[in-house]
Amino acid sequence: MDEFMETDYENRIVAPEYSPEDRDVELSLRPRRLSEYIGQEKVKENLKVYIEAAKRRGESLDHVLLYGPPGLGKTTLAGIVANEMGVNLRVTSGPAIEKQGDLAALLTNLNEGDILFIDEIHRLNRSVEEVLYPAMEDNALDIIIGKGPSARSIRLDLPKFTLVGATTRAGQLSAPLRDRFGVILRLELYTAEELAMIVRRSADILGIGVDEQGALEVASRSRGTPRIANRLLKRARDFAQVIGDGTIDADNARIALDRMEIDRLGLDAIDRLLLTSMIRNYNGGPVGLETIAAAIGEEAVTIEDVYEPYLMQLGFLSRTPRGRVVTPAGYAHVGIPMPGQQQLF
Ligand code: ADP
Repeated sequence: MDEFMETDYENRIVAPEYSPEDRDVELSLRPRRLSEYIGQEKVKENLKVYIEAAKRRGESLDHVLLYGPPGLGKTTLAGIVANEMGVNLRVTSGPAIEKQGDLAALLTNLNEGDILFIDEIHRLNRSVEEVLYPAMEDNALDIIIGKGPSARSIRLDLPKFTLVGATTRAGQLSAPLRDRFGVILRLELYTAEELAMIVRRSADILGIGVDEQGALEVASRSRGTPRIANRLLKRARDFAQVIGDGTIDADNARIALDRMEIDRLGLDAIDRLLLTSMIRNYNGGPVGLETIAAAIGEEAVTIEDVYEPYLMQLGFLSRTPRGRVVTPAGYAHVGIPMPGQQQLF
């Protein structure tokens, strides 16, 4: 087990968060129109209606909250909404707005109808958040002038704008903030077929040759996440060029992914460590999140946001009121017999 402990999360190839190596390609690969955005059918259908209705009324779109694990296309959607509405997009993030004045400056610089995108909106601090309430509700900015007994508040009008907030955890948003979003949309992990379409679209744009089976192989190991699919596509190309004729097919994709220690279902060493340490040290659970975090040397929030959604989607892990539990399918995947069910293996 010890060799796993050295796994470096920062360099984890299947980490769904943005990493600097994605920078050059992410811009060119980002779909710009709703029609280019693959998957998330329910979200697209809803957005289409809201956008159309707002356009017909000549109004700005209601505030939108997008939530779901990282790398699923929240920033991309915000850009698409701006394009579809024909307005500008301003991008910032919760941790980047430190003071009330930072947010006030952003808001007063918006034009009528613009979209302000705040990523990781659950990380806004409370005092900054309070500036957002009147801005979202009344398009107004309340400014306090002076200190102590002589302090007074003046109200400035803001242009009508749309706030698009993104968060990996809607549950962490304060109720007053959540209540001010008219539209709340949840993004789901993508199916392998949808990811294969994304892989082929990206390959086209980047001039990479990939056949249908090769695309599906890369897609099915991408943890339901477009950002990871695009990253694995680039790595698979290197292998296809060195061990094949340059085109990614099922065979060279499989070799590439095996070399990267990403298994058939997209799990890497850390996922397997999580499952095996729960099994070996805690009889497969129930075990609390903090305990698992300490056991594998990872932060609890990372486990909750990054590892668990995919392990739960695969049906390898379940959440119970008493803690996390490894399922029979989870035992089977790491090849450890489940107590009392040895006959199955
Ligand atoms: P998030 O903001 O949720 O972390 P991003 O919007 O930055 O995710 O998406 C990461 C990358 O994945 C983008 O560069 C884009 O190329 C790709 N992507 C995301 N969603 C889609 C989609 N539905 N169709 C095609 N590509 C997508």
